[in-house]
Amino acid sequence: MQQAAAIDLWLQTAADEFGTPCYVYDLAAIKRRSLRLRQAFGGRFLLSFAVKSNPNPALLEWLRTQADGLDVSSIGEFRLALAAGWPASRLSFTGPGKREAELREAIEGGVGELVVESVREAVSASTIAVELGRQQPILVRLAPATVPRGFGDQMAGRPSPFGIDVEDSPEAVEAILALPGVCLQGLHIYAGTQCLRAEAICENYRNFIDIFTDVTDRHRLLPRTLVFGSGLGIPYHGGDEPLDLEAVGRDICPDLDALAARSCFHGTRFVLEIGRYLTGEAGYFVTRVVSTKLSRGTKIAICDGGMNAHLPASGHFGMVMHRNYPMHKVNGQGPLEPVTLVGPLCTSIDRLANGVHLPPVEAGDLIAVHSSGAYGPSASPIGFIAHPVPREIIIDETGLRDVTPSGRRL
Ligand SMILES: *Cc1c(COP(=O)(O)O)cnc(C)c1O
Repeated sequence: MQQAAAIDLWLQTAADEFGTPCYVYDLAAIKRRSLRLRQAFGGRFLLSFAVKSNPNPALLEWLRTQADGLDVSSIGEFRLALAAGWPASRLSFTGPGKREAELREAIEGGVGELVVESVREAVSASTIAVELGRQQPILVRLAPATVPRGFGDQMAGRPSPFGIDVEDSPEAVEAILALPGVCLQGLHIYAGTQCLRAEAICENYRNFIDIFTDVTDRHRLLPRTLVFGSGLGIPYHGGDEPLDLEAVGRDICPDLDALAARSCFHGTRFVLEIGRYLTGEAGYFVTRVVSTKLSRGTKIAICDGGMNAHLPASGHFGMVMHRNYPMHKVNGQGPLEPVTLVGPLCTSIDRLANGVHLPPVEAGDLIAVHSSGAYGPSASPIGFIAHPVPREIIIDETGLRDVTPSGRRL
């Protein structure tokens, strides 16, 4: 309760000082999460942060002390990472549709590990690297044939644009190994995400381990890096039980140790590639109620930011049915009553919550949507209907800081 009151003080101040709608990221909470991740796996995993989950420049800059690497998935993200002070050597570059110009800029810029998702891409990369007189370190992304149940979003186990299907990997890896401009340095799998079940996460990692072992043995590789796409989920809806991370750690560490004990994996770095689990729960979306109305028996509160500012919370980011995100009324007290929260857009799909139970909501009140530190502004159509773009605010030891990317300020 005390912690909730402290957060509300920050959220209220952020809204009053910098305006709404805004995103507020609590760096101390991210730091605790990073520590917990390292402890849960006993330091067996390095942490690589997926920029696509939160590309805020100030956040990326600060993350240099919290994460071991960044995974970028476009040349735009590559540039953002460099601008945030990351050395190119600590970056990996994934993405199923990398264009020639993107490959060239990343290779020329010294990207640490290029994650190739097809033989075509490896051939292009090799040609470019040869022209530049280089050999580019690459990882091969593999798409498993199966993904356990329990992942909210699945990238493999069915026809998929991502990576090379494991069934096709014998010939594909052979072809890639023969290319003069690339050097196969390891393997990468990211097969699904938003999983809250510890057993499913472990089953998925065991599947990765089997694939990594088979491919390594078959081609007599000595991998420097194995990337495990984490799949770790966070609670987004009422009834979601948070993932038992420590149970994942206890269950999978013996398997990681057995893997590391094999001679081909001596010195191999195990990397956990992670987005929402690191930053998601450290972020709040704060929107102010502009107006309320009673319409045919339903109380509706119209907020100054809706799907334009927070697409995932409005349910239009890969959700089949709208379910409310966890949220609260900032400094709210009083009996709970149902209210429907909508945004300011002239479209009926702009809805933040259906019948959520909050203390009485009036114009001027602030609503804080939780689990908003990943897939926020950059995953939202902020240009749609030209409302002010959401500010981005950081809470650190010095207080509150407006870190809205400069190109985005209106
Ligand atoms: C999106 C993505 C991630 C991060 O996913 P989260 O669900 O946010 O953890 C990691 N790796 C790759 C390749 C991705 O595309």
